[in-house]
Amino acid sequence: MALPESKPARFPQPGDHIYCRRKNGLYDHHGIYVGDDMVIHLQGKAKKLGPLPACHKCGDKRVENGEIAKVCINCFLQGETVQIYDYGVPFSEFENRKRGTCSVLRSKPPHEVISAATGFLEGNGFGPYNMIFNNCEHFAMYCKTGKADSHQIEMNFVAVCVCM
Ligand SMILES: [Zn+2]
Repeated sequence: MALPESKPARFPQPGDHIYCRRKNGLYDHHGIYVGDDMVIHLQGKAKKLGPLPACHKCGDKRVENGEIAKVCINCFLQGETVQIYDYGVPFSEFENRKRGTCSVLRSKPPHEVISAATGFLEGNGFGPYNMIFNNCEHFAMYCKTGKADSHQIEMNFVAVCVCM
């Protein structure tokens, strides 16, 4: 029997950690929904946003700082369904859920999550983030909780996202 994927999708609220499938479910890609249809995420070195066709929705607002970028939710999802990463779930529930979909850690208030993600994007003295974050899940979780942790890596349940 397959483990439950996640709770039914709701529309993300600003400050939510969201994720979606990449490569037909080979791995998941994660980011922080910051409102106004925009998402801040950690993208891989290999794939910068440059070559993408200009998006009429986020093209003007698309911001990039190293590997951290702000794109619209449609560009983030690339046609996949948005999923919400849950925080503060009871350990008994956490144990039964698929890894990389939820955490027992508590989320910071949404405005703190958004300001953490925005701070990284704008490079406000957060230091060399590439030393802190190995992948997109690390980045999103750090914005949510102040702790960098990736179940994709820890549990080896899913391939590590290459952040495309
Ligand atoms: Zn876009």
